[in-house]
Amino acid sequence: MSDAAALPGQPRGLVESGPATARAVNVLAPNPSAMTLDGTNTWLLSEPGSGLAVVVDPGPLDEGHLRHVIDTAEKLGKRVALTLLTHGHPDHAEGAGRFAELTGTAVRALDPALRLGDEGLGAGDVVTVGGLELRVVPTPGHTSDSLSFHLPADRAVLTGDTILGRGTTMVAHPDGRLGDYLDSLRRLRSLTVDDGVHTVLPGHGPVLEDAQGAVEFYLAHRASRLAQVETAVEAGHRTAADVVAHVYADVDRSLWPAAELSVRAQLEYLREHGLT
Ligand SMILES: [Zn+2]
Repeated sequence: MSDAAALPGQPRGLVESGPATARAVNVLAPNPSAMTLDGTNTWLLSEPGSGLAVVVDPGPLDEGHLRHVIDTAEKLGKRVALTLLTHGHPDHAEGAGRFAELTGTAVRALDPALRLGDEGLGAGDVVTVGGLELRVVPTPGHTSDSLSFHLPADRAVLTGDTILGRGTTMVAHPDGRLGDYLDSLRRLRSLTVDDGVHTVLPGHGPVLEDAQGAVEFYLAHRASRLAQVETAVEAGHRTAADVVAHVYADVDRSLWPAAELSVRAQLEYLREHGLT
């Protein structure tokens, strides 16, 4: 879920279903909105030559979409062998139970309440299916259960809602926390600097080919919003709603409820750091 439409200077690429990297195919869910951009990207991942595939984020409970994901795999000569979730928001996870039923797969996620099957998922785990390797990178902040998946063979990372293909994301206070989110962005930056990751495969919006640039943009955007919130508080804007109206005046009003959660996260961060 996003808290802002495309910002000046940001790419406005098209989102299309289809191959994004050698190992990743996007099946776009039919749930576009101000919060979900073009819709949820359901990622189908597979090692070339392997008959097995992993699905990341089946998306909303939409029978047509879930069946389309399975058909897409079959057309590529693949069988879905495992389902992973980046986090529990319904636009990513609501269809997971039904998808697991249709495919007979386990669902692995950080939050035990989202899992189907015996295996959990957490920091440092390496998921291997048909020769495909995914490394689990905890990236809390958007939500406490947010994970990213590093796909080293394609120098890519699947970011869920931690980094989007367009605009910026929300910190879903009180579950999401700004301090965690900033640490997660720095963790992703180190993947781009130290591990050669070039490509962001986001949960919504187009694929980004300059992963480091995207992370730097997110860090700069967060710092600038935080400074604006701090200034607004100093100027006497006390409630979260009041701060939103002041700081997010440039953002479509349909996104203000999401922005208010982000502001609450920022006010908490400022309090915890003794800045207000
Ligand atoms: Zn989300």
